Amino acid sequence: MLLSTLVMKSLPILHIALPVPLYQSFDYLTPQDRLQENIQIGSRVRVAFGSRKLTGIIIGKAKTSVLPQSKLKKVGEILDTQPVFDVPLLKLLFWTANYYQQPIGEVLNAALPKKLRQGKFITPVSTTLYKISDAMIENNTFDRAPKQQLLYKLLKNYPDGLDSNSISKKISNWHPIANALIKKNILTKFKCVTNNLTNDSKEKIKSIFLNKEQQDVYNNIYKELDKYNCHLIAGVTGSGKTEVYLALAKNIIENHKQALFLVPEIGLTPQLVKRIESRLGIQVSIMHSNLNEAERSQTWLAANTGKANIIVGTRSAIFMPFKNLGLIVVDEEHDLSFKQQEGFLYHARDIAIYRSKQLNIPIVLGSATPSFESLQNVNTGKYKKYTLRKRAQKTTIPQVKLIDMRSKSVSEGLSNELVHAISNELSKNHQVLLFLNRRGYAPTVLCQECGWIAECSRCDARMTFYKNKNVLKCHHCLKEQIAPSACTECNSDSLLLLGEGTQRVENKLKEIFPNTAITRIDRDSTRKKNILQNKLNDIHNGKYKIILGTQMISKGHDFPGVSLVGILNVDHGLFSTDFRATERLAQLIVQVSGRAGRSKIKGKVLLQTYQPEHPLLNCLLNKGYDAFSNEALKIRKSSGLPPYTFIAIVRARANRQSNAQRFLQDIKNTVLINSSPKLNIVGPISAMLERKAGMYQSQLIIISPSRNLMQQHLGDWIKDIPQHPLSKNVRWSIEVDPLEME
Ligand code: ADP
Ligand code: ZN
Ligand code: ZN
Repeated sequence: MLLSTLVMKSLPILHIALPVPLYQSFDYLTPQDRLQENIQIGSRVRVAFGSRKLTGIIIGKAKTSVLPQSKLKKVGEILDTQPVFDVPLLKLLFWTANYYQQPIGEVLNAALPKKLRQGKFITPVSTTLYKISDAMIENNTFDRAPKQQLLYKLLKNYPDGLDSNSISKKISNWHPIANALIKKNILTKFKCVTNNLTNDSKEKIKSIFLNKEQQDVYNNIYKELDKYNCHLIAGVTGSGKTEVYLALAKNIIENHKQALFLVPEIGLTPQLVKRIESRLGIQVSIMHSNLNEAERSQTWLAANTGKANIIVGTRSAIFMPFKNLGLIVVDEEHDLSFKQQEGFLYHARDIAIYRSKQLNIPIVLGSATPSFESLQNVNTGKYKKYTLRKRAQKTTIPQVKLIDMRSKSVSEGLSNELVHAISNELSKNHQVLLFLNRRGYAPTVLCQECGWIAECSRCDARMTFYKNKNVLKCHHCLKEQIAPSACTECNSDSLLLLGEGTQRVENKLKEIFPNTAITRIDRDSTRKKNILQNKLNDIHNGKYKIILGTQMISKGHDFPGVSLVGILNVDHGLFSTDFRATERLAQLIVQVSGRAGRSKIKGKVLLQTYQPEHPLLNCLLNKGYDAFSNEALKIRKSSGLPPYTFIAIVRARANRQSNAQRFLQDIKNTVLINSSPKLNIVGPISAMLERKAGMYQSQLIIISPSRNLMQQHLGDWIKDIPQHPLSKNVRWSIEVDPLEME
């Protein structure tokens, strides 16, 4: 009797994080059948939560709870003996939840592969491999049927074995031959765990020598390869930044550590993977949203067990577990794709910096157009900056020439001057890349009689016309409807299609250049798996001569045959109300221009504009990105904008605008103003798109002179929101700007 009371008393409390939108953890009792010592922080549990069963994570243990023991439930089941998060990763995720003001349970949940979230387990997948039997490997006088010889010769290059898929790529109908050779003990068949590593890794190693500029950067970073520092490589497009990353990664791997490469787009992974394999001769693991769940799970496992040396991934890869991470590289660090724009709003580059600091390992950021945040961190001495001024392969950065559209004859968005330039390049069998950041056929449908404009019934936005399907689509809420043949207001049939999207320009190009192979790359044309990759391959092998695309083609890609880049219409970026628009526009122009003249052919860039005298454009084009960013940063400073201040935006969405506004006004009056006199609070004001998908959107913009002040007050305040009477009618979220690192 006495004994059992004692045991009951020592039952520890487990703090469990659950995937629910609440800023707290939940206390449960340890199951009686489990020894306390075997329960590890970071392990998953199944628990009853209300009427549901949820998978949660143990984030702490305690002797007592704030709730009486009689009110606590027991944990249903402890799933893991090995935690799914080690302590450093758990700490990183706690920091992330705090920094971005997200509920810890949701952050932990987002960091796990789906199988683990569902309470299942990831088991290694094994593949059948073939290799030459050890006794036969020295036998050079192999003299049999030609197909047997072929297989023998192939496998001789792969002493560790080769899988069926890879063999099939080289030899057809090889199974009977293999079986015959196995019978004679010449071949061996065995099983091996592959972990979704790229299979044909025996690319011939192609070494290069770093040039003087690259070598200097490399040496500087190499000296500090054993500790944290944030290194920013600002190198013009094609200056060989990637080769510097690879040389550094080589060192890391030789020291039996792992390297993580973050890239902005899925489309860039195959290109980089191939390069890593041919430079370092090792297998690479990939992680991005286009993989299926099984593939993602295997990559997760390979990173966690240390089997993967190099992981290439998009933003979510920053949450992967590593056995022994030694280096993080963030390529194109300025790119907006590193920012998660829905749900849990985080910035993968910033988390990467924190993670490196925490692990005391180096991080390398690279870009031809560094973000203003990073430049400011260089100015204050937090990051080290290195510059690569020259292209690695004796090509020059093309000069951008403006085409003044005010005085030109223009048809479907293409000026005569540009059309001439295109045909000139085509006649030399060069490729041309045209950039237009607008999908669909026409962005506006207007009635000439009464001025009616086709708008989305659920958003404050115009609908885009798609000619091929004869539909109108809303790019904000994805609503789609048959395009009307007459005005819905006055029934007139004189409907005008205003403006150009990529499909309209594509049609026009086909009309002007009927014998030229043209491809269009935008989100509409690349929805299906592998289409983007096939298109990119066909650009590389020269099949397409004109490439027309949106921002999808602006980054990273290396198109050696492109000699002319045309930028069709970016004027709207000059007049946006978003204070970051000019920074983005400059980055876009430089990045798109960088796609021209990447091989021996000299490159040209033509930029069509109705604003040829705009000071920003001229500063950028005449003096370059460095001068431009200095100027633009001065303006940010004098206007009290980031990166000199810190901004957070609280958004509220509701069926009625008054609810969203009242909710924010309340929060502002009751909590924010009283507690934080130094915060400057603007709003509530309507969001840029006041109504989206039938919901009204309002926002509060909070500007703080220091990061700490912001963090402190937001943290206090957010805990109270779920108690607010309107919180049931309002959906709210908070976005915290990319911020300075300590
Ligand atoms: P970035 O990453 O700065 O855009 P890359 O590393 O992709 O530049 O280099 C551009 C091209 O120049 C690539 O084809 C690359 O292989 C080549 N290159 C880079 N450095 C060297 C070098 N030291 N020697 C020879 N070729 C190089
Ligand atoms: Zn009308
Ligand atoms: Zn809509």
